[in-house]
Amino acid sequence: MPLLDKTARSLLLTELVSGMMLTFKYMFRKKVTINYPYEKGPISPRFRGEHALRRYPNGEERCIACKLCEAICPAQAITIEAEPRDDGSRRTTRYDIDMTKCIYCGFCQEACPVDAIVEGPNFEFAAEDRSELLYNKDKLLANGERWEREIAANIEADAGYR
Ligand code: SF4
Ligand code: SF4
Repeated sequence: MPLLDKTARSLLLTELVSGMMLTFKYMFRKKVTINYPYEKGPISPRFRGEHALRRYPNGEERCIACKLCEAICPAQAITIEAEPRDDGSRRTTRYDIDMTKCIYCGFCQEACPVDAIVEGPNFEFAAEDRSELLYNKDKLLANGERWEREIAANIEADAGYR
């Protein structure tokens, strides 16, 4: 840059003025940032978040222990043990997911014939300790009860594309 031009820019503060103009230009526009965690952005019905095991409206577990989710899981994160109940129905006695192995591919919920295991809308389940991410059946069923309304709405919204 020639010396004269550089001197003129310095004396007239043109860079400062253009910077301030840019600031004022964006000051009155709609904000694109949100005040997380008090505000949250929209989430797709297909969002693959924290896992949950669902129940039917009468309280019965949906899972029939077919083990398709366990078989298809590429990360081998799911461990299931099952045995028949007194009434002859087959249910899991153990359903564990190692969330530290999970890659959130969604294959487990795609494979499930009864929409029992799902990846819900919750993405706020960071933990301080690895052991908190070893989910058992009680934890997964509790997730299902907590998020059932949102999960059912998401499944319904996506039903036409399945
Ligand atoms: S989301 Fe994928 S990796 Fe995670 S448990 Fe399901 S099948 Fe396994
Ligand atoms: S969650 Fe679904 S796929 Fe997995 S064992 Fe239960 S019924 Fe089968």
